[in-house]
Amino acid sequence: MTVYAYQTWAELEERLKTTKTVLFPVGSTEQHGHHIGVGADWIQADAIANRVGEKCDALVLPTLCYGVSGHHKEFTGTLTLSTETYTQAIYEILESLARYSVKRVVFMNGHGGNNTGLTLAAKRARDDFGMLCAICTWWDILANEKLFGNPAEQHAGYAETSFTLASRPEAVRMELANCMATKQVDDDIQFTRAGMARYKNGVVRIPLQTVDVTDTGSMTETHPDDNPHVFDYSMITPEFAENLMNKVVDWMCSFMKDFDKMKETEPNIKRP
Ligand SMILES: [Zn+2]
Repeated sequence: MTVYAYQTWAELEERLKTTKTVLFPVGSTEQHGHHIGVGADWIQADAIANRVGEKCDALVLPTLCYGVSGHHKEFTGTLTLSTETYTQAIYEILESLARYSVKRVVFMNGHGGNNTGLTLAAKRARDDFGMLCAICTWWDILANEKLFGNPAEQHAGYAETSFTLASRPEAVRMELANCMATKQVDDDIQFTRAGMARYKNGVVRIPLQTVDVTDTGSMTETHPDDNPHVFDYSMITPEFAENLMNKVVDWMCSFMKDFDKMKETEPNIKRP
């Protein structure tokens, strides 16, 4: 009883009498360098969510395989929605869930470009239906981890390669694996990633296209002084990939349980 799509409407009606929190995997279809298929982000989110479903009996919605990826469009194969369309689509799915008494939704998001739309839709759902959403991403969950000296958050880096390998190895070409250092064009304004640069002692947000900071599509997403090119993926074995996946799955299981029982502030209509 964990895969939403396998249940009949009558079975869902019964299940939703006692289940108030559901898990919603969302990703994107966009380029992931030379070594991971364009489905990487939804493949990872889908696998993590369904493992969470199996491990802790969470009800897992069908995965949304398209996201906000316009910044990757110069690389062939990227399919994108605008932030406006995406926000509306997510909102209408939340609205549908609210109709059947779902009170809380946990997103397992596999793509950073979706976060703005997810947040906007979640805020509207909170306002309109009193629904509470949590937006989880594996790179936030692993934010305090170093993977062989590299942060988890890299585009087609060690973590993404591991998650795809553990889910659908047929989507990975390990012999072509690399992660490019963020490309620089200016001596003073130094890019740490496609949307962020260092300038003197501060940082500045400069939205760019992915193609502006990488030629292959993979990205270290940090300044080259911190993380130069990564070409050695030999330590990304199926066993390492499986362990990393399990770490995220365990975190999600624990979070789902605590989020489900998290207290909410009662609306205070009588102001002191
Ligand atoms: Zn990705």
